[in-house]
Amino acid sequence: MRLVLLGPPGAGKGTQSARLVAKYAIPQLSTGDMLRAAVEARTPIGLEAKEIMDRGALVPDSVVVGIIGQRIKEKDAANGFILDGFPRTVAQAEALDDLLVREGLTLDAVIELSVDENALLDRMKKRVDETIARGGDVRADDNPEAFKTRLEAYRSQTAPVSHYYAGKGELKQVDGMAPVDAVSAAIEQALTH
Ligand code: ADP
Repeated sequence: MRLVLLGPPGAGKGTQSARLVAKYAIPQLSTGDMLRAAVEARTPIGLEAKEIMDRGALVPDSVVVGIIGQRIKEKDAANGFILDGFPRTVAQAEALDDLLVREGLTLDAVIELSVDENALLDRMKKRVDETIARGGDVRADDNPEAFKTRLEAYRSQTAPVSHYYAGKGELKQVDGMAPVDAVSAAIEQALTH
């Protein structure tokens, strides 16, 4: 199963990915997680990405395409993967197509979680409160200002990715405003039909 999950920040991609990982025994490839790990480890990529991510802007396509190009060749991704947070620009989507062609692979589904934009800021705030309550580290970009930039990046650079896949007849939309279990059920439905 090779799957792309699309949706704005706070749409629930991470929550749904975790469930799909358990169900299909395939890894979740989150460019956000990989970049945060690079920032933490202070690798050259991490040093380049940190300031951009903290602002809520997108890191250069070449950086994330390079990361994903290597990651999908790793052994644990041989039977499939869930792409979460990638592709985020049309150029990334085109680069992914090239990567897949080169590896002789195809996508089984592209699923977009549609969410009312007004709900997203509240979801982010809730995530911050929950993180603080369990003593975790709040993400540097989970603040209202960076979140606004993330939403703008989504609108201008990532929304066209949905059109890109819709144009190829590959896009399936799921209501991300429904309760978590209902969203999982709708994804399941989209994957089997
Ligand atoms: P979100 O919850 O906003 O979807 P992510 O964890 O997916 O956040 O990503 C956090 C940040 O990492 C983004 O705001 C961006 O700076 C960077 N990032 C992650 N994936 C990509 C990508 N595919 N292209 C460019 N930047 C990315």
